[in-house]
Amino acid sequence: MAAGEVIVIPCLSDNYTYLVRCHRSEMTAIIDPGEAAPVIAELEERDWSLDLVINTHHHHDHIGGNAELIKEYGAKLLGPGAETARIPDMDETCGEGDQVLIGELEGRVFDVPGHTSGHIAFYFPAITALFSGDSLFALGCGRLFEGTPEQMWHSLQKFRNLPPSTQVYCGHEYTQANAKFAKTIEPDNPILTARCQDIDGLRARNIPTIPSRIDVELATNPFMRADEPSVAAALGMSGKSPVEVFTEIRKRKDSF
Ligand code: ZN
Ligand code: FE
Repeated sequence: MAAGEVIVIPCLSDNYTYLVRCHRSEMTAIIDPGEAAPVIAELEERDWSLDLVINTHHHHDHIGGNAELIKEYGAKLLGPGAETARIPDMDETCGEGDQVLIGELEGRVFDVPGHTSGHIAFYFPAITALFSGDSLFALGCGRLFEGTPEQMWHSLQKFRNLPPSTQVYCGHEYTQANAKFAKTIEPDNPILTARCQDIDGLRARNIPTIPSRIDVELATNPFMRADEPSVAAALGMSGKSPVEVFTEIRKRKDSF
C-alpha cells in the first residue's frame, strides 16, 4: 500500500484544498481550506477525523475554513512563521528547511515569497507531492501582491530539482486561462501545444487539471522557462537575464 494519498477537493469558485492522509498512522491533514463545508463532507464520507490544518499563505481563500475545521475536529493549525499576525490561532509555525509531519509522512518546507511575503510550500517525498499554494500554478505563477519578480523567480527555482515525477498541487484551477497565455509566449512549443489540448479536454468534462508534474511544468510553463534562450528570443530579449525575461512575462500576463 502507498504511504499516503491526496484527495483533491474543489472549493469556493476556483480553489482547491487538499486532504492528505497518512495510511500507516491514519492521521489526516487539510492544506489551504478556503471553506469548511466540502472538507467536512469528504471527511464524513470516508469516516476520517482531521488532525491538522496547514496553510501556505494568509489569503482568505486559503484560510477561510480554518476556524470551523479546528472547532469541529480539534485540529491543530500549522502555518508560515512570518504570518502569525495575519493567520489567527496558529499552534505551530514553520519556514525554509523545516521538516513537518502528517502522521509519518515527512514534508520539507520552502519559503517562496512573491505572491505574499510569507508564502511557504511543502514537499512530501513519500507521496512525491508538492503543495505550492499560489506560488507555482499549472502553467502559471501567482500574482505578485507582496513581492518582486526577482523574488518569485528565485522561489520557483527551488522546485526545479525536485524529482521530475513530482505531482504539483496548486491553489487554483487557473490552468486553461494560463494555457491561453502560455501559447502567446511559445506558440511553437510542441509539448505545450499537446498539453493545451489535454487541458481543454479535461475542462470540457469538468475534470481538474491538477495535479500537474514538475517535468511538465519545466517543459511548458513560461514562468519556469524564463532562462530558456528560445523564450528570451521569442520575446525579443536575447541576452537578457532570466529575471528580466521573467519580469516581462509576468507583466504581459498581468494585462492579458
Ligand atoms: Zn493567494
Ligand atoms: Fe488563492
